[in-house]
Amino acid sequence: MKKLLIFSLLSTLVLSACSEGEKPVQTSDNKFDADESAGKVHKLADEIVVYSSRKEHLIKPFFEEFTANTGIPVKYITDKAGPLVTRLKAEGERTEADVFMTVDAGNLWLAKKEGVLQPINSSVLEINIPEHLQDPENQWYGLTVRARAMVYDTNKLSPDDLTSYEDLAHPKWQGRLCLRTSKKVYNQSLVAMLIARHGEVKTEEIVKGWVANLATAPFSNDTKVMKAIEAGQCEVGIVNSYYFGRLQNENPEINLSLFLPQESENGVHVNISGAAITKHAGNPEGALKLIEWLSSKEAQKMYAGLNMEYPANQSVELVEQVKAWGDFKADEMNLSKAGELQPAAVQLMDRAGYK
Ligand code: FE
Repeated sequence: MKKLLIFSLLSTLVLSACSEGEKPVQTSDNKFDADESAGKVHKLADEIVVYSSRKEHLIKPFFEEFTANTGIPVKYITDKAGPLVTRLKAEGERTEADVFMTVDAGNLWLAKKEGVLQPINSSVLEINIPEHLQDPENQWYGLTVRARAMVYDTNKLSPDDLTSYEDLAHPKWQGRLCLRTSKKVYNQSLVAMLIARHGEVKTEEIVKGWVANLATAPFSNDTKVMKAIEAGQCEVGIVNSYYFGRLQNENPEINLSLFLPQESENGVHVNISGAAITKHAGNPEGALKLIEWLSSKEAQKMYAGLNMEYPANQSVELVEQVKAWGDFKADEMNLSKAGELQPAAVQLMDRAGYK
């Protein structure tokens, strides 16, 4: 079942950005309250409401472009994924949300499990989004892809020293590894996908090996992992590709490089940011139109440039900076596994002493 996914080529320039809703913000598009002068706060007839754990600067340009193209207004709020799912559940049929957007298949899987999404029937999405980046029951679709990559100190290591996630468990890395905490979804998803490939026994050995090799206690985010490597505290760590891109933009001379561990048994672990239609969407037609547009070439090109992610739509070319990180073989196991096996991953990391 293992297939190869080779990311391909080319052009344009890039802004820096971060991805997930790391701190809750409430915002709303000015275009929303066209009625407000009349003292009404109800939803406009054709308006689309989005609950997003992606930050405002990573969604607003898209919604503005969509509205400019279609005339359909989009209102949004942003918060962390967990609270948004809780809110959707609590609001039930009363919710104004039509679309849910978040990062990580683990979060999308959770939303599906909590029953706040509905199946989507769209030949456009089936064409634009590869099978392994969508829910098997079509309750969510990936829109962007990020690689869970390695970052290393170029003063101490060369790419030849690095191979796979599994290899980082080898005693030769003792005192040289930095990791983000196991409490955050990105490494939970990585470990879940390792379980899917290796089973729990071997995965636990790998994770125990990582823990034994840590130079210092796990960090709260990927950027801190890179800063620790930059500062010489450790030599290699595991981070999402776009975080490295952001650091690279801030400091092109930085003593760090990105390594895509495609010799890992499954290829490189990729994850997604994605979108779904809420179960009680009042405007499911509009929601579908928006998500289909987000999967289109036009929007996918914007995504690639804005956050240095890989477009989920394989017909869209990479931006120059991301292309320069190299082609790689990605794990194509369906990402719903990252959600299904998340509880097992969390327990396994706990048993392995990974904080
Ligand atoms: Fe992120």
